[in-house]
Amino acid sequence: MPFELTPLPYDKSALEPYMSAKTLEFHHDKHHKTYVDTLNKLIDGTPFAKAQLEEIIEHSAEDEKQKTIFNNAGQVWNHNFFWQSMRPGGGGVPQGDLAKEIDKAFGNLDGFKTKFKEAATTQFGSGWAWLVMDKNKLDIVKTGNAVNPLIAGQKALVTCDVWEHAYYLDYQNRRADMVQAFLDHLINWDFIASNFNKAG
Ligand code: MN
Repeated sequence: MPFELTPLPYDKSALEPYMSAKTLEFHHDKHHKTYVDTLNKLIDGTPFAKAQLEEIIEHSAEDEKQKTIFNNAGQVWNHNFFWQSMRPGGGGVPQGDLAKEIDKAFGNLDGFKTKFKEAATTQFGSGWAWLVMDKNKLDIVKTGNAVNPLIAGQKALVTCDVWEHAYYLDYQNRRADMVQAFLDHLINWDFIASNFNKAG
């Protein structure tokens, strides 16, 4: 079964004014779709054709010859995860045990935002910023291109796409402004809490 483009979990205009329908139209319907289509072509007729996405990522990560497969599989997974990392009317504050862990790891919510924004803005070139669970501890990491925390044995809780295609139409070169809007108005704490509870 070829992979399918996962539909967006909300309307394309639902994240406005922080992320426009135009951005989601290009980002989901063109960029994300191209990763899915390219991956399907690359794995057709190979043992990967019957594998789960996570298996493909894991088994192609260390192999230079499988680099193109890894890049496309990683980007399919990362985008599926990114759409869920946001919600209309997002932002706000974490609750319960998750809130306690955020305070423990980063001092407070502002400390989390500062460190996440730093990771997102200092990722040189294309990549991703992540909140992860690493050996039962929260941490913030950044990855280049299609790399994700799975291959480092970390459990992803949330991500922000910092490829230029994620923000150029709305913010031009101002990546920091997009990341701030992500943290204040889009981040989906319910999704983070559900990943946190599964990881714990
Ligand atoms: Mn992207």
